[in-house]
Amino acid sequence: CGIVGAVAKRDIVPVLIEGLKRLEYRGYDSCGVAVHLDGELRRTRSTSRVAELEAQIASETLGGYTGIAHTRWATHGVPATNNAHPHFSPDRNGRAHVALVHNGIIENHEELRAELQAAGYEFESQTDTEVIAHLLNHLYDGDLFAAMQQTVKRLQGAYAIAAFCRDEPHRVVGARHGSPLIVGVGENENFLASDAMALTGTTSNIIYLEDGDVVDLQIDRIWIVDVDGQPADRPVRSVVAHT
Ligand code: GLU
Repeated sequence: CGIVGAVAKRDIVPVLIEGLKRLEYRGYDSCGVAVHLDGELRRTRSTSRVAELEAQIASETLGGYTGIAHTRWATHGVPATNNAHPHFSPDRNGRAHVALVHNGIIENHEELRAELQAAGYEFESQTDTEVIAHLLNHLYDGDLFAAMQQTVKRLQGAYAIAAFCRDEPHRVVGARHGSPLIVGVGENENFLASDAMALTGTTSNIIYLEDGDVVDLQIDRIWIVDVDGQPADRPVRSVVAHT
């Protein structure tokens, strides 16, 4: 039920965990974090509280400069670790290549799953979300932002999405349609979140995305296109922080 994402030049796990804690009020049944670490995608997922996830991460010494995190309110597939986000999609050698989190419901997930299974993708969860991870990976041709723009054209339903991939370690992409997603603007670091409150203490400079927007985040660049694929000039607003 909540999303946090980050690209930075420092370990962003504390920001992701703090963000999840600030989103706990929305309710959730499981949570997870994925980061880019030593050239691989790594994740930790849990069906308990964010504090438990945090302890699990500390014991695994998971850290990284690029990552995404999620609290899940299950709609498709029971609350279980394999259904918790982030979802991965592998390359041909079975190594995780795309990591993705999603809030909302994908209505045409059955049709997309059948298509992706026919293309050779194996599903590890019962979620509607996993189809987005495989579709993004399937459409990937060296440019994650381009792949996300192609992906959302195929989705019916409501979504806020954040994703990153192994081949582009300093990039996070996002998209929204019918579910909230904002951009947090930092100094040589940028963020995604379900709401501005998730980034309290990290940044108060916020861009509110509109339905149909797709966003490309790098440490020193924020690029947004609208539903027609045209560059979108969204204002940066200063949000008063409530702690
Ligand atoms: N439909 C997705 C799932 O069941 C996302 C749920 C959510 O918004 O947290 O995994």
